[in-house]
Amino acid sequence: MSVPIVVRCPCGARIEAKAGDVVTCECGRRYDTTAVDSEQVRLASLIQRRNKVYARLGVIVAGLATIGGFIVAGWWGAGLALPFSCLVWWKGVQPRWQRRAAADLATIPKSRIEAER
Ligand SMILES: [Zn+2]
Repeated sequence: MSVPIVVRCPCGARIEAKAGDVVTCECGRRYDTTAVDSEQVRLASLIQRRNKVYARLGVIVAGLATIGGFIVAGWWGAGLALPFSCLVWWKGVQPRWQRRAAADLATIPKSRIEAER
């Protein structure tokens, strides 16, 4: 599980990396991002994993709705239930969860990484 981080160098450069990478800025400064607080990484990967679970859950919900639609109204029901459940899930339910996940991520304190030299 890789956690994206942003290293801000005093030279003004902004380097995007993954936690654990050793980043070298164009100005020559080196940053060892393994110094990123492991609690922070753990929390971020937890949120990432949860998002993945929600996406998988959406597929299951859409599948069940399609089967339900088929039982109730045959192929017409299935054909209507599939796009409808997808719409409800990805336009209604998922964005709400993602907003919450984004809020959770925002509460993680940003650690400062100092240049090695
Ligand atoms: Zn720099």
